[in-house]
Amino acid sequence: GVNRTTILNAYRELKAEGLVGSHVGNGTVVLSCLQDESDLLNFTSQEPAWDQIFSHHANDFDSYILKDLLTLASRKDVISFATGMASPETGPLNAFLGIEKELIESRNYKPLLHSPTEGFRSLREAISGLMHKRGVYCSYDEIMLLSGSQQGLDVAARMILDPGDIVVVEEPSFFPAIQAFKSIGARVMGIPIDEKGMRVDLLEQLLQRYRPKLIYTIPTFHNPTGTEMELERRIRLIELAYKYKVLIIEDDAYGDLCYEGHSLPLLKAMDNEGYVIYLSTFSKTVYSGLRLGWMTAHKKVIKKFAAAKQIMDLHSSSLSQWIIEQFIKSGGLEAHIPRLCKDYREKRDAMYDALTKNAPSDLLWNMPRGGYYIWCKLPSGVSAAKLITKAAERKVVFVPGTPFFTSGQGDDYIRLNFTFEELKDITDGIQRLCAAMKELIDE
Ligand code: PMP
Repeated sequence: GVNRTTILNAYRELKAEGLVGSHVGNGTVVLSCLQDESDLLNFTSQEPAWDQIFSHHANDFDSYILKDLLTLASRKDVISFATGMASPETGPLNAFLGIEKELIESRNYKPLLHSPTEGFRSLREAISGLMHKRGVYCSYDEIMLLSGSQQGLDVAARMILDPGDIVVVEEPSFFPAIQAFKSIGARVMGIPIDEKGMRVDLLEQLLQRYRPKLIYTIPTFHNPTGTEMELERRIRLIELAYKYKVLIIEDDAYGDLCYEGHSLPLLKAMDNEGYVIYLSTFSKTVYSGLRLGWMTAHKKVIKKFAAAKQIMDLHSSSLSQWIIEQFIKSGGLEAHIPRLCKDYREKRDAMYDALTKNAPSDLLWNMPRGGYYIWCKLPSGVSAAKLITKAAERKVVFVPGTPFFTSGQGDDYIRLNFTFEELKDITDGIQRLCAAMKELIDE
């Protein structure tokens, strides 16, 4: 027989002369004149043993639950209440075109090169200005830019949690946050939420008993329920964090989107000691594809987390940072938010009215004062999983409640986003969705 070294040497020679090539799935084959001997050289045709290749840790990354739903939602003829995206039409596209034109005409290369991991200092200063308006008096070095606030969850999980550590989250909560904590082996414990936000009255018992390392909360216009944590609970939550020395992540993706009156004080605005890590984003007010969010935290936290971010992606997009900086400095953002709120308030009202007109009698839903979502409790006997299929037949999609819960509950809830679709499609989509519910009830 031919030994392995002979084959390898022959292979190397053939390769050097350009006579062998690989095609995915076919393994290695000899090209042209040597076609007949290809079987002999076909020794790399086995796929890697993936099961042995992925880390143990990779098992924690289950397939992304909503992938199929979102693929469906991206079809043109489908009305989607499933996304968490800003309305593209209401976005500040014209202002952006001006900004990009200026970039090119001034031949300013800075936004096209590397930038500091924490973000451009000038942008960090501009964001500290935004934070001042929110009642948080921080300086630029307490701010770090992020590639979306999702990155803040990932960095925090890696830098604060060890496998087995406990994180408390509202139940239900934003599931990519739950996934970020679970992915590093932390245990996630849910605490119920009602119309006044997290049940802080149940928290102390849990803190005493389990000594969690972290509390994750979305106090303002919560995803998925749309609720706000009332002021008394905010104050109590800070007191408990101090007492039990547990850090809080305040996820404030939606705080600017308040449709009536004013938002309540941020947890970060009440925190004098550095227990709150504040996250926010330009995804919900500007464009999510810029992938730009930020963190406001104690300087020590920023320093530590910047080291982690550097390993992840070096820095967030310089171009996105530059665009946002110009947008803030020109007053564009400040002018944009009231317009956005007006648009989204109309959409929220349209969805609420359409539900009032069309819903089956046992459907329950709320009227959120801000944010992106209406949260519905389905009539008894109607499951979200079954409703997905029925609604998809009528070309409307939404997100079922299940992924937002820590362990399998939630099939009697659905989350409806009202910001993404146009007004007329919101009314039309709710009619279709309610028709699908009624069909299920009648079955
Ligand atoms: N937190 C919450 C509560 C969200 O709803 C979202 C977006 N759906 C994010 C964080 C992540 O947003 P991004 O990474 O786009 O900033």
